[in-house]
Formats: sequence, structure tokens, C-alpha cells
Amino acid sequence: MIQRFDGPYHASHIIGLQWCERREYFKTVVNREAAFRSFPAMLGTAIHACIAAWHSDGRPELDSEEAEQWFRDALDVEENTPNHPDEAILPVFWPSDDRDKDIDEGVKEFAPMFLAYTQHPFALSRDFEILGQEIKWQMIVPPRPPYLFEGRIDQVRRNDSGQIVMVDLKSGSMDATVGQFSLDHSIQFLTYALALYRGAVLEDLRGQVPAIVQFNLRDLIPYQKRQARRNGEENWTDSYREWFQLHVQTGPQGGEYIEAGEHRGPGAHWSYPPETLLLSHEKLLRDYVQPFRIGRYRPHYSSTSCNYCAYREECRKLSDGELTEMDHVTKQAAKVLAASGVELAEIMD
Ligand code: SF4
Repeated sequence: MIQRFDGPYHASHIIGLQWCERREYFKTVVNREAAFRSFPAMLGTAIHACIAAWHSDGRPELDSEEAEQWFRDALDVEENTPNHPDEAILPVFWPSDDRDKDIDEGVKEFAPMFLAYTQHPFALSRDFEILGQEIKWQMIVPPRPPYLFEGRIDQVRRNDSGQIVMVDLKSGSMDATVGQFSLDHSIQFLTYALALYRGAVLEDLRGQVPAIVQFNLRDLIPYQKRQARRNGEENWTDSYREWFQLHVQTGPQGGEYIEAGEHRGPGAHWSYPPETLLLSHEKLLRDYVQPFRIGRYRPHYSSTSCNYCAYREECRKLSDGELTEMDHVTKQAAKVLAASGVELAEIMD
């Protein structure tokens, strides 16, 4: 079976290929047309829209009610905007089957992040100008036939010092800390920074190496213990300080207490890629997408990939229904978990 995909390629495709080429094949090449929209993705798009509109409106001071209204309005626009190539509006997959309840919970979680952003020095400072927001870009990477990459950059700023800064806003849950190495070598950020450097984002910035900021909006709100929420515990929202004290300070390593304040982190996490890293990334981009170019996708059987894979049945069919390495991996994982008293079903849920 050879099924090529000639792009345009996104950074998320590359990350998908690194997890499992076969899974990325199912996701991107076979099931390219989604039947539903994901509600968490809508929440992310709505907060991006709020932040862009807030900057465009001259950064007005908002209180929590106004922030909530801005967010509800943005969500409403998102829900009713055609989002299919034929201009149709795809139905939303509501997590609890109850639209109003899901919207209320989403607003409760996201409006405080938006409000906190509007009060943060990184947003309020007068030391920069915004050169563009939510900019869609396309970049051709040689040789022949060329490779087409595309993406969208949340914000491009110019600081008073002349430094160009590329900002990526993250609203999803992630680890409590941001590793500097992962930030400096992030495929997404290097690809975006390269697009900027090549003039694909704003032509007059060609040749400028930007600084990168990953802005974690969840740094600004109390840490949420999702597992505790799932378990039905009432007090599932906690400050990072409390979380840290509970899980690290009193942990077996008796680690040093880090004064994290009431927030999870500083919001803005900076990285300064050297020009040489951008140029070597450009060469790597071509290699990364080779499975798409040649139309062959290797399965990557691993407990982390396979246990959470939505395409296990399709994958099994491709392996002619035989007991595959995937089954082996899953069984191994179940055995290890059983030994530690955890049911596989528990973590699959
Ligand atoms: S089941 Fe495993 S090997 Fe198969 S597609 Fe999914 S992640 Fe890849």
C-alpha cells in the first residue's frame, strides 16, 4: 500500500509521525475529513480570538464579568462559523452531551485565563508594538519538487530594542514546568521561527532571527488537578504552591521547596534560537516528512502510543488480524500495571 500526501505539511504532522507513522497515516491521510469538531479545540480558538481582539481594541481594562462576556461571544462566533471546506458547519462533539453545561464549564475555565492575560505585564507593557496577530503563513522548502509547509503564528512583536519576538499562546494543560531544552528544540517553534526568518510570515522581516515566547496561559490560574476532578473530589482546584508542597516537598526525594507563588509559572517562557539552528532545522524538515512523500508508514508499537491510539482496530486489520507486536505491548503494559495494582481500564479512561 502506497498512499502519498503532498502537503501542505504542519508542524503537528511531524510530531504525529514521530509518535507513530502509521497512526499519522490514519489521522491525516485516511481520515482527513473530520465529522465533528472538538470542543476543547473550540475553547482554544476562542481564547486566541479574545486576545487578538483585545490587543486590536487598544487593550481595554476588563473586569471578570466583561472577560466572561468577551469569551462567551468568541465561543458563540466559533460555534457558528463555517469550518468545513464546503462552507458547512460541522457539529460539535460535546463532551457531556449537554451543550449549555459544557459551555458554562468551558467559560469557567477559560475566561479567568483571558482576564489574567489582560492584567499581565507581558500583555500590558508599553515596550513593544504588535506587527501582526493570527498570521497564516506558507513556506516553500527546496529542493524540487518543493515541500510546502504552513501554519499560523499567534503574535509577532517588535520590542523597543528592535528584537523581533514570535509569541505562541498555549491554553492546554501541560506539565507543571516547561523544560528549557524542549522549548529550545521544539519542532513547532523552530518551524515557525524559520518561516519568519525566510520572510514567509511578514516579507520585511526576512533574514531576522526572532526570539520565541511560549506563553502558558495556565501559568496564570490556579493549578487544576484533573484526576481529582475525575475522582469527584470537591477541592480539585488548587494553587501551584499547594500542589508543589503536597506532591514534591513532602515527596520521597524530600526535594527543595521552590517558591512558586500562587501561580504555576511566569507565563512567558523565552527561547533564543541561533541562526545556525534554524538553518539545520530547514534541512531536517524535508527528512521529517519523508513517510508522507514516499507513502509508506511504519507502525511504532509502544505502550505509550498504542494504549491511547484511536486506530488500534484499523492497525490490527493492516496486520492481517494476527497477534501483533501491538497486542504484545499492550499485554506487557497490562501486566506491569496489574503488578502495581492498577487496572488498564483505569488509565484508558
Ligand atoms: S496501534 Fe500502535 S502501531 Fe498501530 S497505529 Fe496505533 S500507535 Fe501505531
